[in-house]
Amino acid sequence: MNLGDPVTAVKGVGDEVAKKLAILGLHTVGDLLENFPRRYNDYSIVTEIGKLHPGPVTIKAVVKQIKGRYVRRGMHITEAIASDDVNSVRLIWFNQPYREGAIKSGQPYFISGQYELSHQRFAIMNPNMELVSDFPVNTARIVPVYRETKGINSARIRKLVREILPLIRSQPETLPEWLIKDQKFLSYAAAVEAMHFPANATELEKAQKRLGFEEVFRLSLASLLNKYELLKDKSLTIPFDEKLAKEFVSHLPFTLTDAQRKVVWQIYGDMQKTQPMNRLVEGDVGSGKTVVATMAALMAVAEGYQVAFMAPTELLARQHAETVYTLLEPLGMHDRVALLVGGMSTAQKQTAYQHIAEGHARLIIGTHALIQEKVDMQSLGLVVIDEQHRFGVEQRKKLMAKAGHMPHLLSLTATPIPRSLALTLYGELDVSILDTKPVGRQPTETEICSPNSRAQLYAKIENELSAGRQMFVVCPLITESERSTVNSAEKVYEQMAKYDFKHRRVGLLHGKMKPIEKQDIMQQFARHQLDILVSTTVIEVGVDVPNASIMLIEAADRFGLAQIHQLRGRVGRGGHKGYCYLMMSDSSAPPQRLQALERMNDGFKLAELDLELRGPGAIYGTLQHGQLDLRVAKLTDLKLIAAARNAAQAYIDKGEDLIQYPGLCEQVTRLRAVTNLN
Ligand code: ADP
Ligand code: MG
Repeated sequence: MNLGDPVTAVKGVGDEVAKKLAILGLHTVGDLLENFPRRYNDYSIVTEIGKLHPGPVTIKAVVKQIKGRYVRRGMHITEAIASDDVNSVRLIWFNQPYREGAIKSGQPYFISGQYELSHQRFAIMNPNMELVSDFPVNTARIVPVYRETKGINSARIRKLVREILPLIRSQPETLPEWLIKDQKFLSYAAAVEAMHFPANATELEKAQKRLGFEEVFRLSLASLLNKYELLKDKSLTIPFDEKLAKEFVSHLPFTLTDAQRKVVWQIYGDMQKTQPMNRLVEGDVGSGKTVVATMAALMAVAEGYQVAFMAPTELLARQHAETVYTLLEPLGMHDRVALLVGGMSTAQKQTAYQHIAEGHARLIIGTHALIQEKVDMQSLGLVVIDEQHRFGVEQRKKLMAKAGHMPHLLSLTATPIPRSLALTLYGELDVSILDTKPVGRQPTETEICSPNSRAQLYAKIENELSAGRQMFVVCPLITESERSTVNSAEKVYEQMAKYDFKHRRVGLLHGKMKPIEKQDIMQQFARHQLDILVSTTVIEVGVDVPNASIMLIEAADRFGLAQIHQLRGRVGRGGHKGYCYLMMSDSSAPPQRLQALERMNDGFKLAELDLELRGPGAIYGTLQHGQLDLRVAKLTDLKLIAAARNAAQAYIDKGEDLIQYPGLCEQVTRLRAVTNLN
């Protein structure tokens, strides 16, 4: 048997069972091996019947007088008496009629279950039992609990894993020997076995530590190897013109925050090198990333190079073009800006191409389709990628091929990942963090609302609107669907425009509208020709309307933590206090993440909490990426992450050849293709 074999290679697995295992994502023997338990029940202590206490217990006993009966239709009870040498205890099973025929009388069993009161007498309820042996799997141990599906329970999976135990025990080591010694790790085979069938709690902990370390180690190694490869590329140097930078800053309507100043400085440092910059700027929503990017672009443009500024949506591209245009106007450099998006007419596009070809327009703003466009890339000096998480190896190669050199890369993201994690996931990137917000920003007040109190809420909202403010309303769907009663954008729009806010100007915006319509509505809202904008999450990233102070999120329990944090970042920007109302879809208790949003405003802290709420492995927010998800490592375990990262660097410093560790080599090669996340 091999890891790559289908599950049907395991004794007892036919086509029917294989189909059910497939539902759990278990296709091969290797999948079974890596299908680590969700949790464990500790039934490891075998107690004499005379000393039982309520709670989970295990006894060693023979079973007598087993009898099943129907107490009413659909309710079957099996009762039995289990005895050790001295005492007896009742066993009770509900709806497990097969129990009666499955007991071998007179043979000793391990019996594990919940010892509790049933009809005024103590009994062990729904126990698992198996004949006494050296290697019980369902009883008398720390028992693994797996993800289950109809027809496949944990007991079934335990049996299968027990079957492949010889194969598990013969698995080769996957980490370098020196690392195992240094860290005093269990061997790979021992760790995998201990994940499924730990001898005790200490061994389980050791197994989790070793395998968690290994996951982060592989990830770090992959991204470090990428980093060293990128360092071999050549780029154009973009000199720093201090006078120009000072002039730009002197025309700003605000002073840069210290964080902005620091990050701009780091970027200028990078761009002066012949090695391409590869920097990620992380800053919470509203931390002022656009002006940072504009300052980077400024130097490239002044030096006569082209800059491609890519936004995730056309809407944002247009908005950026306007912002950048305004920022460069005082320097007389605004005519260097060109917008290039799909929604433009052919004639408009032709003009843009021409300006670019003549070398007059140098700062080209568009969506990520920009790098596919027929624009002259020969003098491309800088690429700015806003709010886009996938800019991987392939896109880089395309840029290289077009430009003949690797342009400097600057990525901006509002997905706040804790620094330790960013370093692991993005080891090949230099990470800058905009950790202070512009002064004078008050935190947005966030409140969970129940549909019963809609009237009171609307009264509060009306107050703000009367004071001249505007409101975003975000809905989870565009149209009402048959299956869902969740408020759709169209329905909410109708309700507000016709009834609740009929004296206000209400607009509707959603992803299925034509770009020109979207742009038109957005502009109306930006110019305050609309008071209320009802939309889907198209407005999630980047949209900047300083006069908007209210964000109402319908069916907020449908949204993720990161998403809501992004959304509420749209308000409270222009010096007006922001309000974010999280409307529940019904009057049930709000989930923990909404409560967290009510209490906390710091994106980084929320990111950490999100990691905790969603358990080990789930990588924060939109970064979720199946292939990168970790099975064992807790991303909140900073010590483990640091140790694994340091080990990856040590590994590289040793200059060893990856080929000598085939398992590791295969995994790292796979990861290298996906870790270029920015
Ligand atoms: P984000 O980081 O979310 O992309 P933006 O770049 O859109 O944020 O900036 C948000 C708002 O803050 C904009 O209106 C911008 O003009 C303003 N802003 C940026 N930097 C500062 C600053 N240092 N002081 C005051 N306002 C600023
Ligand atoms: Mg932005």
